[in-house]
Amino acid sequence: MAFIHINKQNFYHNLNQIALKTGAVDKIAIVLKDNAYGHGLVLIAKLASEFGIKHAVVRDLREAKEVKSFFDTVLVLAGEREVDEVCSFALNSLADIANTAKGTKVELKVDTGMHRNGIPCNKVDEALALIQAQGLDLVGVMTHYRAADILSAEYFWQSKRFETVKNQVEAAGFRGVRMHSHNSAAILRTQHFDEDLVRVGIAAYGYNELDDCFAPMQLKPVLSLHAKKVSSIHLQANESIGYAATFTATRPMQVSTYNIGYGDGWLRACSDVPYTTEEGLTVLGRVSMDLMSFETSQEEICILSNAQVAAKHFNTISYEIVTALNSDIPRYII
Ligand SMILES: *Cc1c(COP(=O)(O)O)cnc(C)c1O
Repeated sequence: MAFIHINKQNFYHNLNQIALKTGAVDKIAIVLKDNAYGHGLVLIAKLASEFGIKHAVVRDLREAKEVKSFFDTVLVLAGEREVDEVCSFALNSLADIANTAKGTKVELKVDTGMHRNGIPCNKVDEALALIQAQGLDLVGVMTHYRAADILSAEYFWQSKRFETVKNQVEAAGFRGVRMHSHNSAAILRTQHFDEDLVRVGIAAYGYNELDDCFAPMQLKPVLSLHAKKVSSIHLQANESIGYAATFTATRPMQVSTYNIGYGDGWLRACSDVPYTTEEGLTVLGRVSMDLMSFETSQEEICILSNAQVAAKHFNTISYEIVTALNSDIPRYII
């Protein structure tokens, strides 16, 4: 199987850069959903906690249980909710409030414009009253930006709506509630961060997905993907390689096959325009389930060390490239 290197120095570099923006390490909540964006859930939780990160965000209770020993708080975005000392649970609808047990720590998600889930702005007072009546422990109020990465007014009008929500929470008599709206794009672009927490995902893993017009913050990719040689052959001119014989040698070539394929989460899409690694090796023929071929005889090759390069090739975003990587691939800290 292929293997992944996790570069601890680069991860800490990114966290330091983010801490400069938030003003304090304590204000960072590392987003660990989906196997820490493919980087390895427990491995990244451990590194983040060693760095001094106190808060995490996960997708569901299963992920929360694997990492809660590393943090003071873990925000669970969806799924089952239960009374827990460390875990708090996002309330994504009024129905969620009714279906939550008394004493559960909750964080109210307000829909300020994304329109996926969350309580509509005009139902916030109703939601707060329900939370009180139900005896839930409101520890946070949050929202999510739909377009903080784009140079437009989007980020500003959503922020403004969230300011109103903050005032409503105060007015309803709640105290000590943490307020948070920023994701990576928002924290990278903001000049005056004054909230209690930032929920940072992709930037911690080394990617700045903002429009180029924003002042760039230097981030360093944390993950690299490598494969080992399975076999080598001499391909003669006119011999083809792989399924459907889509690549035919025009000259004799030294070709090796490596132990990575779409079964590992590498994309087979866009096979017609073959992917070229950052070392300059081009995939020969189609990507198989567990194998890919290149013109080289190296024992090991680096398939990817910057997901934005691959994302460009596959016409997607860095998030999808790293998150797709199979959780069974061994991950090693370097
Ligand atoms: C995934 C997620 C984030 C992190 O987003 P990035 O763009 O990776 O920083 C923050 N908040 C919520 C609610 C999320 O689902």
